[in-house]
Amino acid sequence: MTFTELSISEPILKALLIKGYQTPTPIQEKAIPVALDGKDLLGIAQTGTGKTAAFAIPIIQMLNESRVKKVRREIKALILTPTRELAIQIDECFGDYSQYTNLRHAVIFGGVNQRPQVDQLNRGVDILTATPGRLLDLIAQKHISLNGISHFVLDEADRMLDMGFIHDIKRILPLLPKQKQTLFFSATMPTAIAKLSRSILSQPVRVEVTPASSAVDSVVQHLYFVEKSLKSNLLFTVLQKAQSKSVLVFSRTKHGADRIARVLNKKGIGCEAIHGNKSQNARQRALTNFKSGKTKVIIATDIAARGIDIADLEMVINYDLPDVAETYVHRIGRTGRAGKTGTALSFCAPDERTMVNDIQKLTGKKLNTVLTAVS
Ligand code: AMP
Repeated sequence: MTFTELSISEPILKALLIKGYQTPTPIQEKAIPVALDGKDLLGIAQTGTGKTAAFAIPIIQMLNESRVKKVRREIKALILTPTRELAIQIDECFGDYSQYTNLRHAVIFGGVNQRPQVDQLNRGVDILTATPGRLLDLIAQKHISLNGISHFVLDEADRMLDMGFIHDIKRILPLLPKQKQTLFFSATMPTAIAKLSRSILSQPVRVEVTPASSAVDSVVQHLYFVEKSLKSNLLFTVLQKAQSKSVLVFSRTKHGADRIARVLNKKGIGCEAIHGNKSQNARQRALTNFKSGKTKVIIATDIAARGIDIADLEMVINYDLPDVAETYVHRIGRTGRAGKTGTALSFCAPDERTMVNDIQKLTGKKLNTVLTAVS
């Protein structure tokens, strides 16, 4: 199937061409026609499936073709997402896909000065991506009205719940007009999410794409049995061999992430660490440098890496194995996206061996051991 067959209009097709997207991903094939039809959608898909474009493309198309946009510059589409990093990435997607339209987009999130965000809102915004806390703050200060919303997206609903945003969401929902289209996305469907979805969707069409473990199929996985004290040397060696590849290295602790970054930088491999002790600006700067290719290696803890979408990530390295097997699947799922093949290397010290069994059980695949350097 092609984007043209999905009835995507010329300005958006042009933008997708520039992005290098040739064909729609499965979630896009299923969700775009439903959304363009104006129906509510219950999308079960995780990050990496192309779900952002699955809701961004139809929203841009519908707003671009609607007459309302010429009448008043008010917020017409609201996308709620749990993390700042995700919010920024979603807004970037809207920017990319709508570049040949006159639509305006903006993103708001907490932890930074609200002034530039308010200034941008005052200039007029059609599509707003927001994290719940900052949205409620700016609504309370009357900088934002949700009265003109015709399209509402709740993204990563399960993570919203995990992060304790349910009360914020319940405060936001009544502020939205009754008459609107709602697109609801979640990677998993626990009872609480199913209940929430029923309460806000009206006769939704359910679309679902491949569950978590199959994401692993597009990733070549290698295992290194190595003494803890040899891990940093091994990392240096594999990064030297990986040369210009973009690599995300996972460290179990913040302190560990800093230490790895220090060692690599000293040895001439430019890299940055991102974790919760770094300011939002420092994290954003590190991500921008990585995305632009200025740095090829980024070291992150699981929390900091949550929701980071780095297109064309070629390799994931588990410097430390995670504490639970599901985290392993999430980590390596950051590479091998959208039809590309990725590589995942895992460094396993003697005290981490039991985790290898758990991972193999969960993924149903035996990890390929490439090196044993333990006595
Ligand atoms: P998402 O699941 O929205 O986080 O998207 C995952 C990655 O796939 C992002 O880097 C997108 O830029 C990329 N992507 C989305 N749709 C397509 C497509 N149709 N073809 C190629 N890449 C895509």
